[in-house]
Amino acid sequence: MAKQIKVWFLSAEVAPFAKTGGLGDVAGALPKSLIKLGVDVRVCLPLYDLIDRRRYKLKKITKTASVKWSTGLEKIEIYQAKLPESRVPVYFLDHPFLRTATIYQQPNDKDDKPNRKIDDLRKFSFFTKAALATAEALGFKPEIVHAHDWHTALTKHLLHQWPSDFYEDSRVVYTIHNLANQGWAGPGIIKWAGLKNWQGDLNFMAEGIKTADRVTTVSPTYAQEILSRPLDAGLGRYLRQRRSDLSGIINGIDAVEYNPAKDKNLFKKFSAQTLERKKINKLALQKELGLKQDVNIPLAGLISRLVWQKGLELFDQQMAKRNCQWVFLGTGEARYEEQLAALAAKYPERISAQIKFNDRLAHQIYAAADIFLVPSRFEPCGLTQMMAMRYGAVPIVRATGGLKDTVNKNNGFLFNRLTKTEFYQTVDRALAEYSQQPLAWQRRQWVGMKQDWSWNEPAREYLRLYRQLLK
Ligand code: ADP
Repeated sequence: MAKQIKVWFLSAEVAPFAKTGGLGDVAGALPKSLIKLGVDVRVCLPLYDLIDRRRYKLKKITKTASVKWSTGLEKIEIYQAKLPESRVPVYFLDHPFLRTATIYQQPNDKDDKPNRKIDDLRKFSFFTKAALATAEALGFKPEIVHAHDWHTALTKHLLHQWPSDFYEDSRVVYTIHNLANQGWAGPGIIKWAGLKNWQGDLNFMAEGIKTADRVTTVSPTYAQEILSRPLDAGLGRYLRQRRSDLSGIINGIDAVEYNPAKDKNLFKKFSAQTLERKKINKLALQKELGLKQDVNIPLAGLISRLVWQKGLELFDQQMAKRNCQWVFLGTGEARYEEQLAALAAKYPERISAQIKFNDRLAHQIYAAADIFLVPSRFEPCGLTQMMAMRYGAVPIVRATGGLKDTVNKNNGFLFNRLTKTEFYQTVDRALAEYSQQPLAWQRRQWVGMKQDWSWNEPAREYLRLYRQLLK
């Protein structure tokens, strides 16, 4: 048998312990598929206060790690658990710098003032070094350190300065989940993180791109889009320099967690063979959310962080003119929360705005929806369209990034320009097919439900990439 590759997997979010979006889903699911391929993968994240230690049966281990930091020698306590339904070990690092009530101090949106990110910059620069010190303390010598997003982008930089030879043979894979959040640090942070001889500001994301041995992102189309404006988010120069080391691997979804035939969150389980049972979920959700109960009226859903990226300005009173119900689940910027809440208040029988984060309700919406909306301005991969398709909801998406790689004319509807005209025309096309061509509609549902959205193939691609690096 080939030698097992050891992978130290670093992420700010890991589902189900701590998640705000797709990053958490990826870190909670990809390792489960990697371990099945024989990879010795172990996951590491901060032990935020929000993590439910009892529910997930976290156990403190006797080993501790220590980190030389600008504040002195900092001691890290280590807790352990497994990813649910798997043997993947997860290490939670406990230290006062990491014990925050939420994963991020501020919503990660475009309007973030750089100086407001200060707590996150401090926290994640510390976490990255702490995670590297932890693997050494555990004696887990990884061939690959797989770092995700700006939070852990300093991995290779820190390894260059590593005081021991522990990481001598380690390679760093850096995965970009979203270029919109980059982590800009000024002199205060640079000093705090103890980065030596640094000139000017520090962009964590840029540093990750420049230094990692390989750079990946979460879909082939996004990997192309970020080489030029506007989707390069100002980092095109660095990305083009790494062009031959950059690739796009499409995300999968957790096929166990998102399985309508076994999903305990649903009012009624169903599969492609028992698709008529999906209606029971719709009726139940309509009732629960105070919408008019009617199986024949199509129901459109959207589940999202409510940020500029997601194209939410499309939603206005035009929705109420259609024979359709609209359900929104999300939290984020106040302007979008208010916009959706106001529409729901005006048209309570037609529109429901659930301004909260609720995993169970998310599953219920995927199961109840006929149509699922992802009109993003840009979308590195997007997972909600895949989850929706698995539950027989037909996606309407903007043709960008990973949405373009997963949705096509057989399983959904695409529109090109982010304008209300194009969006509502596409909605009308979908509504017409829904009411006039039920067989064509059902065919779309079937195509989406039968496709393999699991991590099996993407995990193989990551394994191939790890192997290439170790040659
Ligand atoms: P992003 O990473 O930009 O947030 P993705 O589509 O990749 O977008 O992933 C979003 C994930 O977060 C999905 O699992 C989705 O169901 C979940 N999600 C987003 N908002 C909520 C919410 N308010 N309640 C429950 N789940 C949510």
